Amino acid sequence: MSESPRLRFAPSPTGYFHVGGARTALYNWALARRLGGTFVLRIEDTDEARNRPEWVTGIVDALAWIGIDSGDPAFEGPHSQRANAASHLAVATQLFEAGKAYYCDLTGDEIRARAEASGKPGYDGYSRDRGLEAAPGRALRFRVPDGETVVHDLVRSEVRFDNADVEDFVLVRGDGSPMFMLANAVDDMTMDITHVVRAEEHLSNTPKQQMLWTALGRTPPVWAHVPVLVNEKRQKLSKRRDKVALEQYRDAGYLPEAMVNYLMTLGWAPSGESEIVPWSTIEAEFRLEDVNHAPAFFDEKKLAAFNGEYIRALPPEEFVRRCVPFLPAEWNPHRFAEIAEHVQSRVVTLADAAPMVDFLFVDDPDVDESSWTKTMTTDVARPILERAIEVYGECPWDADTLKTTLEEIGTELGVKLGKAQAPVRVAVTGRTVGPPLFESLEVLGRDETCRRLVASLERMGPAGG
Ligand code: GLU
Repeated sequence: MSESPRLRFAPSPTGYFHVGGARTALYNWALARRLGGTFVLRIEDTDEARNRPEWVTGIVDALAWIGIDSGDPAFEGPHSQRANAASHLAVATQLFEAGKAYYCDLTGDEIRARAEASGKPGYDGYSRDRGLEAAPGRALRFRVPDGETVVHDLVRSEVRFDNADVEDFVLVRGDGSPMFMLANAVDDMTMDITHVVRAEEHLSNTPKQQMLWTALGRTPPVWAHVPVLVNEKRQKLSKRRDKVALEQYRDAGYLPEAMVNYLMTLGWAPSGESEIVPWSTIEAEFRLEDVNHAPAFFDEKKLAAFNGEYIRALPPEEFVRRCVPFLPAEWNPHRFAEIAEHVQSRVVTLADAAPMVDFLFVDDPDVDESSWTKTMTTDVARPILERAIEVYGECPWDADTLKTTLEEIGTELGVKLGKAQAPVRVAVTGRTVGPPLFESLEVLGRDETCRRLVASLERMGPAGG
C-alpha cells in the first residue's frame, strides 16, 4: 500500500453524468482532499459500443463543474481501462499458472442445461479439475476458495459472504477479452488504490474482487458502498423516469455549489444546525463512517430550495455574472443589472431570470390573454391607463414617485394600489406577475412605458365599445 491514500472514481461512460455518480465522485474527492491523498479518475471504457471520446470529455467537464478540477494536484487521470488490457490478461495468466484459475470449454447453453438438471443455478465448477489449457472459446474462471469472505465496509460495517454462494466466476471470456470483475480489480491493484468508495450496487461484486486481491497476495482496500438514490416513490432513480443527468441541472441554471452541497447531504449531514455549508466545512468534516446506509431520497424540491438560498446569498454583481450565460445574447447585461436585485430574490434557478424580465428587452412583450381579460375588461382599467399616461408623461422618473402617483390615481378612482397597478403591469409587461412594477418601470424608462400604455389603450378599442 502506498503511503498516502489513493481513491478512485471509475465511471463507465454513458453519455450523461448521473447525479448518483456525482455524489460518489464528491465523496471520493472530499476524502482525497481531507486525507491529503489522490483522486484517480479511471474511465471504465472496455465496452466498445460505449467508447466515445466526447463522453470522456463530458465526464471531465461535469466533474470540473462540481469542483473536481483535473488541474488540481490531488487529481490524477483520466486513465483508460482499455489501455490496461495487457495487464489484466497478464494477471489472468498469473492466476492460471498458480492454479487459482482454470479454463472451461462449456458453452452458455451447456452451463444452463447442467444448472437445470441439478436444480442449482449458476456454474457448477465442472472444469475445475479437468486440467484444460488455454484455447480459443475457453473461458478462464477463478477457483473460488472454500470458506467465507468478510468485507469490511466503512458504511455497512462487516458484510459476510459464504464462498459456497459464489460461483467460479469468469475472468477472461472465451474470446480472450477480460471481464469487468478482473479489469476493475486489477486496475485498483495496479493503481495502488487504498479506498474503494462506490455505489451500493457493486457490493455483490466485492467478495469476488476481494478474493482476487487476496489470491494475488495483496491487502484489500478499504471498502465503502454508498447508498442508492431513490425518487419520491422510493424507486431507484432511473434515466427514463427521473431527471438524473447532472448536465440537465447545470443547463437549467442550478449553481454548482448548491448542487455539490445538496448531493453531499444525501446520506450524510454536516455537524452544525444547517445543512447548508461551504465546501471547506464539508471537506473538513466528511467521514465515510458517518454515511447512512439507508437509500437516500433525491428530492428535487429540496435541491431547488438549496439553489434558491445559494442564489440569494450571491453578491449582486456575481448574480448578474452568473445569469449572463442564461440571457439571450442580444440583451444588454447592464440593463439586466439594473433590475437584477429584484430578480435575485425571486428566482429558483438562473434560467428563471430571463423570462421574468423579458419585457425590458423586447419592443412588444407577448401579452398573456388571460391576464389581459382579467385586468383590462374592468371599468377602471381605461381611466387608470388614461390618467397614468398623463401623469407619467411628466412626473419625476423614479420608482417611489411612480408608486405614489399611481396610488393617487387609484384614490381618485376609488381603487387600492394593487387594483390600480394591475392594468399598468399588463400593459407594460404583458402579464399579471413579475418583478416589482415601479422598479421595472424605472428601468424601462418614461418613453417606452408611456408608449406601451397608449398601445394598450388602443388595443382596448373606443370607450364604451
Ligand atoms: N464502472 C463502474 C460503474 O460505472 C464502477 C465500478 C467501481 O466503482 O468499482 O458503475
